[in-house]
Amino acid sequence: MKKIKQIYEGKAKKLFTTENEDIYIQEFKDDATAFDATKRGTIHGKGVVNNKISTKLFQLLEKEGVPTHFIEMLNDRDMAVKRVEIVPLEVTMRNIVAGGMAKLLGLEEGIILDEPVYEYHYKEDSLHDPLINNSHIKALKLATDEELNTIKELSYKVNDALKEFFSQKNLDLVDFKLEFGRCKGKIILADEISPDTCRLWEKGSKRKMDKDRFRRDLGNIEETYQEVLKIVLD
Ligand code: 5GP
Repeated sequence: MKKIKQIYEGKAKKLFTTENEDIYIQEFKDDATAFDATKRGTIHGKGVVNNKISTKLFQLLEKEGVPTHFIEMLNDRDMAVKRVEIVPLEVTMRNIVAGGMAKLLGLEEGIILDEPVYEYHYKEDSLHDPLINNSHIKALKLATDEELNTIKELSYKVNDALKEFFSQKNLDLVDFKLEFGRCKGKIILADEISPDTCRLWEKGSKRKMDKDRFRRDLGNIEETYQEVLKIVLD
């Protein structure tokens, strides 16, 4: 399989067409951005780490009955994926208060939630990915009710599977962001699942093992990404 034409470059990945019109290649970059790309940097080796972690987690989720766009890892930075039309929503699931939820509601980070908090954000950089609800989604015709039901059901499945997976590895899955796509009339999980898109805290010490090390200048960024890769693959 070969990259033919670059059709998109995002903050952390590039997307290419291939000789098969139903298959794209997503290439994971080392570029890191935060706060609407006002903070930019490079996390050396991040692309390789995120490709390998996403591969492992997509494989695990497929086994748990979550359909994903993953086809295969082609090399250190490239993953073959099914062509999808991305639903312009960022779905976040939260098990512990942190980040955006702490800020929005004036809460301390670290409060353990009795049940997961499920959110939609409109994927639109120029509006800073605002928090929206089902009515907004309907008004903007971003997804149908049926699609939203599927997205919700799959998101809870992902949370159950990943919480358990990370817990066995002594990490708390604090929160994460998912993106979904339409593929031949079906909703499937797309994008990536990595320390860029999840918050992971070491149990007990609450050491941050994710992109917050970059966002908040906590140091040991590259080392921590490598550590998470080792933990995930162990
Ligand atoms: P928050 O809303 O607290 O900033 O983010 C919640 C979770 O979703 C975090 O794990 C965060 O990494 C992820 N997330 C939310 N929006 C984005 C985004 O635009 N890009 C990335 N990489 N992750 C995001």
